[in-house]
Amino acid sequence: MSLEGKTAIVTGGARGIGRAICIALAKAGANVVTCYARSAEACEETIRLVEECGVKGMCVKADVSNLEEITAMVDTVKKEFGTIDILVNNAGITKDNLIMGVSEEDFDAVIDTNLKGAFLFTKALSRTMLKQKGGRIINISSIVGVRGNAGQTNYAASKAGLIGLTKSVAKELGAKGITCNAVAPGFIETDMTASLPDSVKEATLASIPMKRLGQAEDVANLVAFLASDEAAYITGQVICVDGGMAV
Ligand code: NAD
Repeated sequence: MSLEGKTAIVTGGARGIGRAICIALAKAGANVVTCYARSAEACEETIRLVEECGVKGMCVKADVSNLEEITAMVDTVKKEFGTIDILVNNAGITKDNLIMGVSEEDFDAVIDTNLKGAFLFTKALSRTMLKQKGGRIINISSIVGVRGNAGQTNYAASKAGLIGLTKSVAKELGAKGITCNAVAPGFIETDMTASLPDSVKEATLASIPMKRLGQAEDVANLVAFLASDEAAYITGQVICVDGGMAV
């Protein structure tokens, strides 16, 4: 499986699953560009790790909910790398609360980052991929988008929305050799889940047939495969990486 000569954009690659995806794609031979909304430092560290794999990397300031910044980023990447073959919509946030406590602002913030960000990037790159007659779009959803979760109405709605976006894009662009799939991680040990109480982690662990929490690399390995030529006939799918949690 080789991604040599390909260029990937991975949103939110400064840490966690996004960083692991950047490294997995780089190890497979792809040049990798990632973006950050506020602080460049962690993002630059990801790019240092990417370049250690012998490929080119680039870190750009682009908030995924900001159309102007996305457009500028896509133009920069096209100028620097020529083609953009792989898009991984990974950037995401949570603002958890029971529905009565969710403010309109927190609902909008989660939808704007997790769902609108993926829409804006996909729209920005679809013309490029159509011209190239090929491409890979991978959206990082969640099993919460499949099953729902108390305390996560905004997050679950955004992740379920990503699944609808994925299936529709797969139907629109499939004839041109562009695949679009969703990856639905279960409980992955990252900064996003680090602050959850031990009681939640223990209850989650008890519901996972494989009896371990997931690692960012578990998700990244699937993304690298879906980005490859070997995954050319897989589109519109939602693939869980959850140790069997959703079964
Ligand atoms: P994380 O919080 O560690 O990383 C999220 C990354 O997204 C960070 O680098 C952050 O800076 C970036 N980001 C956030 N908002 C952004 C914006 N507006 N513009 C640009 N970048 C932005 O989280 P993670 O656990 O690595 O999660 C990565 C993805 O996987 C998210 O979409 C998350 O919803 C999803 N996911 C995570 C889990 C889990 O258990 N950790 C489970 C299911 C799905």
